[in-house]
Amino acid sequence: MSSYYIWTVGCQMNKADSERLAASLEEAGYASSSRVEDADLVILNSCAVRQSAENRVIGKLSTLKRLKAERPSLLLALTGCMVDYQESDLRRRFPYVDAFFKPQAVGDLLGFVGAAPNGQPALPARPSVCAFVPIIQGCDNFCTYCIVPFRRGREKSRPPAEIRCEVERLVARGVREVTLLGQNVDSYGHDLANGYDLARLLQELNTLPGLERIRFLTSHPEDMTRGLIEAVAGLEKVCEHVNLPLQSGDDDILQAMRRAYTVSQYCDLAGRIRTAIPGVSLSTDIIVGFPGETEEQFRRTAEVLGELRFDTVHVAAYSPRVGTAAARMEDSVPFVEKKRRLDEIEALQEGIAAETNAKLLGAVEEVLVEGQRGGKWFGRTRTNKLVFFCDAGNRYGQMVDIVIEKASPWALQGSLRGRKEG
Ligand code: SF4
Repeated sequence: MSSYYIWTVGCQMNKADSERLAASLEEAGYASSSRVEDADLVILNSCAVRQSAENRVIGKLSTLKRLKAERPSLLLALTGCMVDYQESDLRRRFPYVDAFFKPQAVGDLLGFVGAAPNGQPALPARPSVCAFVPIIQGCDNFCTYCIVPFRRGREKSRPPAEIRCEVERLVARGVREVTLLGQNVDSYGHDLANGYDLARLLQELNTLPGLERIRFLTSHPEDMTRGLIEAVAGLEKVCEHVNLPLQSGDDDILQAMRRAYTVSQYCDLAGRIRTAIPGVSLSTDIIVGFPGETEEQFRRTAEVLGELRFDTVHVAAYSPRVGTAAARMEDSVPFVEKKRRLDEIEALQEGIAAETNAKLLGAVEEVLVEGQRGGKWFGRTRTNKLVFFCDAGNRYGQMVDIVIEKASPWALQGSLRGRKEG
């Protein structure tokens, strides 16, 4: 039996794509290899969102070039965000790679290895209790710093019936929580007929027996409709957690980023979400050091974060991506200054998260147990907070009540109050 090895760089979308790729290969008779050196087929699932990620892929390709020279029968394939309209350039730069295929074109890979695709999306052979389900690919927004629309193309929603069928199959295999994925997940459905949207998809999935929790990632403030907020508030399986990237706390920088909202509109939206969904946790993404960002503009971002008090902030230092509009602007903030701003936001958020999480001491939180780490069970609350607890029994996949006894900015710890079910 031939074996495969998949190396994945990047976001949850890439990880979900790799899981599906692995499942398709296993259906086609391939076995998973734990070591790249032993595999007959090696696939790199690449990320191009940051230069550092692309550099890692290129470094790995050099290693594989050596392996290929030693073992010419080894098959190499490259997929993910690096494979785009510049495919001919990639072929020229990496002539030892046998196949290049776009992330959505698993069929191309199966054709390449001589296995015909069966037309139905393959599922992970051993899905965990939580699964990621891509529902929309690509993005139409063209934020000036972002390479995604160039690499993943325009938005394309999957048909609701196909998604529903996939979730049903996952639930039949033991999955209890799904996270619906999209680079711009809340614009799901705008290319479908009859005004079908994410709120309606959530309503449909909410009725599936056996499915306990539904999440979705990543939203754009512009597409966060009243109907979607009402769906999160009213549907019992949809978790009270919204990731809503702000990116900057300064209106001029937001405009330069081509983010179609002002800080005040964003704050208003966050307030409406918090009013409609009691106990909701909000997370956000921030970029510091965007071209032209002054100290004063950066301070405004820190102030807004201090006012909005997110549960989680993902902060990144700006780095130009060739081909984007921002890459043609002067990258005016020096690296050390970007790093200082990034450290300041992380320190600010650490204090806020410590205070927010400390309020949960003594509370009882519903946790879906995802596995064990360092001898402890771990899982997440509905609000997406990581919780650890000790128990001698096998708690995998169970929904348990945990009394919170310790809180840090990054995680909670507690003890089992009682098994709810499962
Ligand atoms: S909405 Fe997100 S994925 Fe789309 S261009 Fe902007 S940052 Fe990139």
